[in-house]
Amino acid sequence: MRRPIELRKDSTMPNSDHEHWDVIVIGSGMGGMAAAAALSRVGQKVLLLEQHQTLGGLTHSFTRDGFTWDVGVHYLSGVAPGDHMRGLLDWLCDTPIEFVSLGAIYDTLHIGSDEPLSLSRPYEAQERDLKDRFPDQAEAIEAWTRALREGREAVLKIFPTRAMPEIAGDLLDWWNRRAISKWCARTTKEVIDEITDDPRLAAAMAAQRGDHGGRPSKASFSMHALISAAYLWSGSWYPVGGSAAFAEAMIPTIAKHGGEAHAGVRVKGLLFDGGSVVGVTTDDGTEIRAKAVLSDIGARETIDTLLPEDCGHQDWMAQIRALPSSIAHFTVFLGFEGDIEAAGATKANHWFFPTGEADVVWTDAPDAPPPHMTASFGSLKNPAHDPGPRQKHMGQLLVWADWSTVAQWADQPPGTGGDDYADFKRRAEETIMAQFESYFPGLAKLVVYRDLATPLLTVSFTGHRKGAFYGLDVTPERVMCDALRAQTPIPGLFLAGQDVASPGIPGAFMGGLLGAACVDAKVLKQITG
Ligand SMILES: Cc1cc2nc3c(=O)[nH]c(=O)nc-3n(C[C@H](O)[C@H](O)[C@H](O)COP(=O)(O)OP(=O)(O)OC[C@H]3O[C@@H](n4cnc5c(N)ncnc54)[C@H](O)[C@@H]3O)c2cc1C
Repeated sequence: MRRPIELRKDSTMPNSDHEHWDVIVIGSGMGGMAAAAALSRVGQKVLLLEQHQTLGGLTHSFTRDGFTWDVGVHYLSGVAPGDHMRGLLDWLCDTPIEFVSLGAIYDTLHIGSDEPLSLSRPYEAQERDLKDRFPDQAEAIEAWTRALREGREAVLKIFPTRAMPEIAGDLLDWWNRRAISKWCARTTKEVIDEITDDPRLAAAMAAQRGDHGGRPSKASFSMHALISAAYLWSGSWYPVGGSAAFAEAMIPTIAKHGGEAHAGVRVKGLLFDGGSVVGVTTDDGTEIRAKAVLSDIGARETIDTLLPEDCGHQDWMAQIRALPSSIAHFTVFLGFEGDIEAAGATKANHWFFPTGEADVVWTDAPDAPPPHMTASFGSLKNPAHDPGPRQKHMGQLLVWADWSTVAQWADQPPGTGGDDYADFKRRAEETIMAQFESYFPGLAKLVVYRDLATPLLTVSFTGHRKGAFYGLDVTPERVMCDALRAQTPIPGLFLAGQDVASPGIPGAFMGGLLGAACVDAKVLKQITG
């Protein structure tokens, strides 16, 4: 049993003694926690600073009216017993996290007016699911499975270069250039168009693109393959106790090795000595020094908010600024009372594409129905959840959206959008709920709590530009971008998290470890070990 630890803002201040810290990690998302815990494990004294009031970034959970929701985890892959990532995660956890399998069926697609299509694992089972639904497309479906396997392999060849010096990384990219140009340089849509001309099958192949945010017409196929196929080989898992388990298990590792983690401390800028980064300045003006600084807040956010414009690395900054941000999202957090399984809720997530098109985001909020919605029921996945006598359960409705839906209120301080913003929110929530009711009429009757979060909330609690919770969009240009190496051209400054590797918990985790490996080669030894 893990002992409870304090993940929320406390009254102690970070130690700012000049000689004290080896490494400062900015941002306590999965990438920052992994980097900080790994560096602690190899003997570095680490200070982890988080602007939000709770540690964990998008893995943190929150509670309202007796209901608790995870902010950014519905399932994850890579943590099956024996998976490489699972071994690394166990190494970083003070007490290992327990994961529960969500079973063979993990996503159910609702495309247009077609019957629901449940997707199961492993590869062979999913091929069967698709062939049963599209019997005259057997060859296309087999070609799709091959493409997923090869696309995943191709992008995995790129990731190690993110922790290498530029020349070595370029050489390895050259060596792998055929696979990279076939799978990383083409979009998901280009690959699907080559495989099938059946629009319903094409939509089913592209549907899980919400797991990385990239629209099929823009995303590198390799990212789609990496993230969709991960569930096929590793399975679909959920942390027992919810996603706060990550911080509960990794933060004590930092403390045990002489480090500290503080919530509610925003880093305002970086300290320079000559051309090197030697520490950070926090919002209250405190200067804290360290031999290395690792940023988990996003590559674009790092250059836009922490670096002076004249830091002397304009080419590198321009390469990152040329990459667009990923999608934003609206979430309705739902609290139910009653038998939600009898009313249609399942452990598997439900993906709705009412127009039959997967390449869509909500642009005409608040009144037009969203062209996509994912419904997820976290309490059914979590064996530690006790529904109590009132049968309390939690759900989330996610709608992928364009930033333009809320851009007009972006410059106003959080919570001060005025009446027109309040009216927009109310109408957006009603539109999403009406659609939910049409999908799950029985469940809609059991809702006793609901609350809408817009992309502006994502900005205020994560700092992600344009509400882009997945960071940089997963375009071919991003996948092949040299500027996203964990080792930046600025001595002393390193990147971690999802922009270094890929969106999602496993990607952010690996991005954190790649960043840590650039700071201390002992971490690289552990990764490759
Ligand atoms: C609704 C939703 C559903 C998702 N579902 C899944 C899922 O089912 N499975 C999955 O694998 N992934 C999922 N994800 C994606 C996953 O949560 C992210 O890809 C991953 O957590 C990103 O980790 P990170 O460490 O890179 O960044 P983050 O978790 O965003 O961490 C960055 C941290 O930096 C902090 N920060 C920013 N600026 C500063 C500053 N100046 N000073 C100090 N701190 C700062 C932020 O507050 C934040 O805590 C989902 C995300 C969302 C939003």
